[in-house]
Amino acid sequence: MASLKEEMEKKIMEILPPEAKFSRVDFEGGPNVIIYVMNPRYVMEHSEYIKTLAKELKKYIIIRGGDPKVRIREVDKLKRAITDMVTKSVGSNIIDDIVVDEPTGEVYVYLKKPVRERSKLEKEILAETGWKPWIIPTALEMGAGLPRSDIDAVKQIQLATAKDRLEFLRRLGMRIHREPIYRDARITVTGLGAQMEVGRSAILIRTKESSILLDCGVKPSSSGDEAPLLDELDLDTLDAVVITHAHMDHIGYVPYLFKYGYKGPVYMTEPTKYLMEVLLTDYIEQAESEGRVPPYSRQDLAQALYHTITLNYADHPTDISPDTKLMLFDAGHEVGSAVVHLHIGNGLYNIIYTGDMKYGPTRLLNPAHNKFKRAELLIMESTYGGKEDIQPPRQESEQRLVDLVKHTVEHEGKVLIPVFSTGRAQEILLVLNEAINNKQLPKIQSTSMGWCWKH
Ligand SMILES: [Zn+2]
Repeated sequence: MASLKEEMEKKIMEILPPEAKFSRVDFEGGPNVIIYVMNPRYVMEHSEYIKTLAKELKKYIIIRGGDPKVRIREVDKLKRAITDMVTKSVGSNIIDDIVVDEPTGEVYVYLKKPVRERSKLEKEILAETGWKPWIIPTALEMGAGLPRSDIDAVKQIQLATAKDRLEFLRRLGMRIHREPIYRDARITVTGLGAQMEVGRSAILIRTKESSILLDCGVKPSSSGDEAPLLDELDLDTLDAVVITHAHMDHIGYVPYLFKYGYKGPVYMTEPTKYLMEVLLTDYIEQAESEGRVPPYSRQDLAQALYHTITLNYADHPTDISPDTKLMLFDAGHEVGSAVVHLHIGNGLYNIIYTGDMKYGPTRLLNPAHNKFKRAELLIMESTYGGKEDIQPPRQESEQRLVDLVKHTVEHEGKVLIPVFSTGRAQEILLVLNEAINNKQLPKIQSTSMGWCWKH
């Protein structure tokens, strides 16, 4: 019997015309199917073939230059070519950084702000240079307010070991893209945390084929932080961890999985990856400074970041195991926060896991995405969802804050605002800024502003 790869090759050759010069197909890049062609320009100019391939193979397709020979050889020349193309299409002085990933033939182009025609620009770069580009607006400019050093630290972890990482992605691809063995549709959902309690969110979804963990948070308590009930978990058979957002009650124990031998992928959005590095580094440092032993080390955190694969909102369904596809949608809760959609058995069973979400728009964030074609199971975060938990209208709360600040300033007091979690500080600053602009508040002198990274 022909292998899945051989069958794919046959189909690709039927679809792609000889001009594309198909070279080979591979599962490098983990969840994606990579098709190498010797004439990337031809395929980019005839994008209908990519659509047909995706439809026929039911996979997300990435086209790469089939041979290092079809790529621009010198890194400087490649960077110059990309800079010229970005300048021509979006404007000058917009590139933040260009990082070349030699083993995979991919190049990461970090921009200072999001661009509207990203996929068009990516196609042009591939056609021109033979390198598969990923255009990423840096988290810094996306409003996460992160220090530059943290962004660079994360990039370094993923690129310093680019060859090993390619090996990890290749192994992952082979596992994900095999044909499902079982046709049994039984699905079990096990709460490992955050059930009838606040904190340590962790939900295990199992089919005969797959085992997927949604979030892995910490439950802070005065007697010591508590982990999710991880005894239920077999790390050898765990296929994927999916993270909704970077708050400690959802990410606090992710590196712990790596400490005890997990070697698989962790899926999340790009901003969540950077925020996770900041929060968990801080968590380790905090524990050390208080003379406590943190539950995991910096190396375990580096392992978690190394195994992280980022996805965009509402992008294509990504294969994360032989029978499960994943999509992330905007949850409106903080920068990068996501609602998780799992399609099990080719759309047979759809699970929506909201994570923390915000239904209405705020100054910084869009409302949570809530339109799904099908959902057989909805797992909804319900903190603040009790019948007593009625919050005053936003406008009323904002006015109360402004009045309190005004009263304090008028009485020559000092205003100190402890902020509960990431994302909130920025929102509060915007409220105060608006009140100052509207002359509801005088221009207040602020001595220092620091983010509070705690949960
Ligand atoms: Zn949260």
